[in-house]
Amino acid sequence: MEVENISKEQKRGMLENVMRQFDNAADVIDLNPNIRKILSITNNEIVVHFPVKMDNNEVEVFTGYRVQHNNSLGPYKGGLRYHPTVDLDAAKALAMWMTWKTSLAGLPYGGAKGGIQIDSSKYSMAELERITRRFTYALGDNIGPEFDIPAPDVNTNPQTMAWILDTFMSTKAPAERSANLHVVTGKPIGTGGSEGRDRATGYGVFLSIKFWAENKKVNLKGKKFIVQGFGNVGYWASHFMEKEGAILAGVQDADGSIANKTGISVEKLWEHTRENNGSIQGFPFASPIESDYFFQLSCDICIPSALGNQITAKNASKIKAVLIAEGANGPTDVEGEKVLLARGVDIIPDILCNSGGVIGSYFEWLQNRNGEIWQLEEVLMKLEKKLNESFNKVLQTSKTRKVDMRTAAFIIAIERLERTYVERGIFP
Ligand code: NAD
Repeated sequence: MEVENISKEQKRGMLENVMRQFDNAADVIDLNPNIRKILSITNNEIVVHFPVKMDNNEVEVFTGYRVQHNNSLGPYKGGLRYHPTVDLDAAKALAMWMTWKTSLAGLPYGGAKGGIQIDSSKYSMAELERITRRFTYALGDNIGPEFDIPAPDVNTNPQTMAWILDTFMSTKAPAERSANLHVVTGKPIGTGGSEGRDRATGYGVFLSIKFWAENKKVNLKGKKFIVQGFGNVGYWASHFMEKEGAILAGVQDADGSIANKTGISVEKLWEHTRENNGSIQGFPFASPIESDYFFQLSCDICIPSALGNQITAKNASKIKAVLIAEGANGPTDVEGEKVLLARGVDIIPDILCNSGGVIGSYFEWLQNRNGEIWQLEEVLMKLEKKLNESFNKVLQTSKTRKVDMRTAAFIIAIERLERTYVERGIFP
């Protein structure tokens, strides 16, 4: 898919979408107008330009962003994305979604998001390390373990987090360094990362689908699913779906789309991407298909796990799935959602469906803060319990308020924030 073509729509669309989703839920609960004003704006918008020496000794100047939407429930929390579509509006939209997500999950966090406007595939590993370190240095104390805690997102990973941590710690006085271990989450295990954080988002996506299936009395065994994005979220969601007996029928990534009616082995495809620069291109056990046809593939469940605004009024009517489980942030736009809901398609909204990631991050942060190390089983068990609580609350609210699941999720998130503002008042 042409990144340049989708980027203009995304930049405009994501912020508009998140605001429309917020306004819709705020209207249902008749949100206090003053609190609506506060939640409609972002607290801080940080833009940094920084120079980095390239492998060929030339200097390139990059632009990085960190938008902090709201911290009334706790420190800002949210990922860092390296992608050409990253800009202020994209970071604002994604930061707002983080506020609703952490609030819905009942975590002591606010919402933030950021990243660098960059096509990371064009840079060597050594260049990406220098870019990341210089970005961290440029952000300075705009991030911090009790203030704003980044995590991985599109094209960033545990290695990126280790570089951020090392740079951040190195700028602190020696005696303070280890007290900063929780400045980022999603770190490698050897660097203070948590067991299970790697799979937390995808596992949460799978659990949401499992809870939905239990509620609908649907057996996931033999059900066909398609996945857009085969990175951290797409792979782990597929891994757990396959373990449950579901069949992966199609995959789309930044380089193209593939399908196989009889099923694609998740692990074989993953191995292929490890040897192929992360790409699904050239996988021998599936056929390439037109990217425009991807969402029309015959399936029961569709798991968008790449970028925002992928399901729109243009393609929503052709989707065969009866369930959209949003692994990505903002994959369905408001108009696309209207079409799907009218057709009776269920949508597990992003702020619920992919919240396993930030819940896993919270567990990592707690372990770092308390000097604890938890086992994988303990992390996954706690994650399931927390996600189950959120899922049931959303389902309940959707029934009592007679609204769709996204509006229900937003209502729960907004009401928690409203409570804190009502109790605390506005300074001075
Ligand atoms: P990733 O970088 O690991 O993988 C991204 C995948 O999306 C890759 O397979 C890439 O090829 C594909 N992709 C990129 N552009 C595409 C396009 N135009 N069309 C189709 N596929 C495309 O990223 P990730 O961490 O898996 O994140 C994916 C989504 O999940 C993002 O929306 C992110 O915000 C969201 N998310 C991630 C986490 C997390 O813990 N990583 C948590 C919550 C939400």
